[in-house]
Amino acid sequence: MKTLKRFVLVGAPASGKGTQSSFLSETYDLKPLSTGALLRAEVAAGSELGLEAKKYMDAAQFVPDDVVNGIVTQWLGSNRNCGCLLDGYPRTVAQAQTLDANLAELGLAVDIVVYLNVSPELIEARMLRRKACPKCGETTRNGEELCPKCGTPMIVRTDDNPEAFAKRRRDYETLTLPVVEHYREQGKVVQIDVVEEGEPETVSARIEAAIKAYAEA
Ligand SMILES: [Zn+2]
Repeated sequence: MKTLKRFVLVGAPASGKGTQSSFLSETYDLKPLSTGALLRAEVAAGSELGLEAKKYMDAAQFVPDDVVNGIVTQWLGSNRNCGCLLDGYPRTVAQAQTLDANLAELGLAVDIVVYLNVSPELIEARMLRRKACPKCGETTRNGEELCPKCGTPMIVRTDDNPEAFAKRRRDYETLTLPVVEHYREQGKVVQIDVVEEGEPETVSARIEAAIKAYAEA
């Protein structure tokens, strides 16, 4: 039976990763790591890394890898006895390699990578079912023709800028999917293929079964 402490969750934008992230945190008692929140906390604390990060955040630029890696390593070191969930990090193979090396120095490692592989067709269909009411602002996810609150015909939600979404999708494919392959080589990936729409609870149950099988293997 493997002891699983450090989880990484990987999934495309709009794959339902947020829901499964909450499920994993609750089920396995994991502390979620948010690089955004960590960066803001370091900035607020005025630490050396925080001051470095602030320069980039003030200029609305990406905080460079070495600063993010430093903050994450510090966090993982001070939470070494807790279960944790890394979601949105590592975002690139370079980050994964640094993470592995930094964890190894602490005598730790990533224990499991949960890869939520939702088909692009399914994600696209989901986006089209995200509707908004032009009159009262009610939003829904199930493609409702009429607003459940005021009966006005609904329109497809446009709060997701299509170009920005396409860019996030491309970045995910070119930068983050190789992270899955990086950990697959280490035999640490549990892959959940989702090709048909269903309840999030069904996906959660499949994730739980796959993690159990992985831990017992
Ligand atoms: Zn309405």
